[in-house]
Amino acid sequence: MKERKIDVLVAGGGTAGIIAGLASARNGAKTLIVEKQRCLGGQFTVGLQGAWVGFSDKQKVIIKGIAWELRKNLLARDAMVEDDPNTDVCFLYDTEIAKVVLDEMVAQEPNLSVYLDTTIVDTLTDGDTIIGLKVLSESDFMEIRAAVVIDCSGDAVVAAKAGAPFEIRPKKDIQPMTLMGKMSGVDLDRVKEYYRTHPPIVDHHVPPAWREFKTFPGFMHFGLHDELEHVDLPEHLEYLRSWLGIFTSTPNPGEVTINCSGAIEAHSTEGFESKAEQEAFSQKCLYDVSEAFKRYVPGFEHAYLSTMAALLGIRESRRIIGDYKVTLEDFLEAKEFEDSIGRGAMPAGAHTPDGVTMNVYNLEPGKSMTIPYRCMLPKGKEGLLVAGRCVSYEAPVANCIRCMPQCMAMGEAAGIAASLAVKEGTTPRNVDIPKLQSILKDNNAII
Ligand SMILES: Cc1cc2nc3c(=O)[nH]c(=O)nc-3n(C[C@H](O)[C@H](O)[C@H](O)COP(=O)(O)OP(=O)(O)OC[C@H]3O[C@@H](n4cnc5c(N)ncnc54)[C@H](O)[C@@H]3O)c2cc1C
Repeated sequence: MKERKIDVLVAGGGTAGIIAGLASARNGAKTLIVEKQRCLGGQFTVGLQGAWVGFSDKQKVIIKGIAWELRKNLLARDAMVEDDPNTDVCFLYDTEIAKVVLDEMVAQEPNLSVYLDTTIVDTLTDGDTIIGLKVLSESDFMEIRAAVVIDCSGDAVVAAKAGAPFEIRPKKDIQPMTLMGKMSGVDLDRVKEYYRTHPPIVDHHVPPAWREFKTFPGFMHFGLHDELEHVDLPEHLEYLRSWLGIFTSTPNPGEVTINCSGAIEAHSTEGFESKAEQEAFSQKCLYDVSEAFKRYVPGFEHAYLSTMAALLGIRESRRIIGDYKVTLEDFLEAKEFEDSIGRGAMPAGAHTPDGVTMNVYNLEPGKSMTIPYRCMLPKGKEGLLVAGRCVSYEAPVANCIRCMPQCMAMGEAAGIAASLAVKEGTTPRNVDIPKLQSILKDNNAII
């Protein structure tokens, strides 16, 4: 068995993990990211998300730090579209160029190394303290010991394996998974004209810039109800009339990203036969939706489904029980926590489990909720921090806290906290919060 020792070990190099790794390394800790995909970024890249929402409270920018630096790097490559960053909640970026930009950012950090195509299979523990991870690359196992582990797996894989308490809603209540895809060859001018004359059914949380088609970021389209009104559909495609189907344009001409519902009433944490079913079902849905767009939405006549994401989009799975659990009330009050490490202002709520719509709780423009450091600390465990969509919160807070800018802000705070713990010979739970906050502010983060 191979062995390695490191200061900070980041489990999962996705949306939160890549930023956690960068932050920890920049703050002086020898850091290693272990990622099971063949590239960095998780949902941000392999998941084909492409619509980065949650940077503003519709009046001002609320997320900066490393995420803001990443935005600048994408802009420098013409790989991002934005209008007014103070009021735009949505930046559209190229998911493929993002992979290269992330690689370049990692290459600039001498303290940071990365293992790709490497799966975390177990935790190393000493009582209630997590002291490392066992990982598998090809057919080789390695035990990696670390002073602090940051679980950025999205599914709280490390926390769960280490026996930390977590919750997961039953299948009948959980948000559906979605396999994102891209269509190319879309005549966007024709689509735009079509929607000008047939306004799409928009939910009240769609930001004004979207409604006015200001930067043509795309449309939120609740099913193809109108387009299919006079169409006879076979029974198995009837769902297309009502399902949530969102498409957004990308920085590339004639290209859109498709986000439709997919595997419903399923747990992403179940493996074997279940995984195969989820993937096949989601692929079929994406194909059905793209075919329906082609046939029934003007502008899509010559379009084609060009890519299916290599990573299934998981909206919800395990959430740890942390030292603090963020509540819907906290969101609605736009709570200012003393241990704030970041902010969120996107509407809270969740996609309904049937894939049809979303429950939405809004904040007034100019207001945001703070994210407390304590929601990243798993109850009863030491040596472990959690960042990303699997931190501790009530289910209805999901759509605010799990957005990519918020996951990145949590990643940055976790990375700095872990490196501080190493530097000061303490645990993440006992990190000096004002010091953490002051480093975050020095790094241009907004807390
Ligand atoms: C369909 C869908 C649409 C969305 N739309 C938007 C949107 O428009 N805008 C927005 O801002 N947000 C959106 N989100 C939310 C956002 O994309 C996610 O909540 C966020 O990216 C999650 O970040 P994360 O770091 O927690 O997880 P991820 O980005 O998924 O990263 C987790 C990483 O851990 C790795 N990993 C997991 N297990 C292991 C293991 N055992 N060993 C090694 N590595 C492992 C994974 O491969 C992955 O790279 C959407 C989400 C979904 C699913």
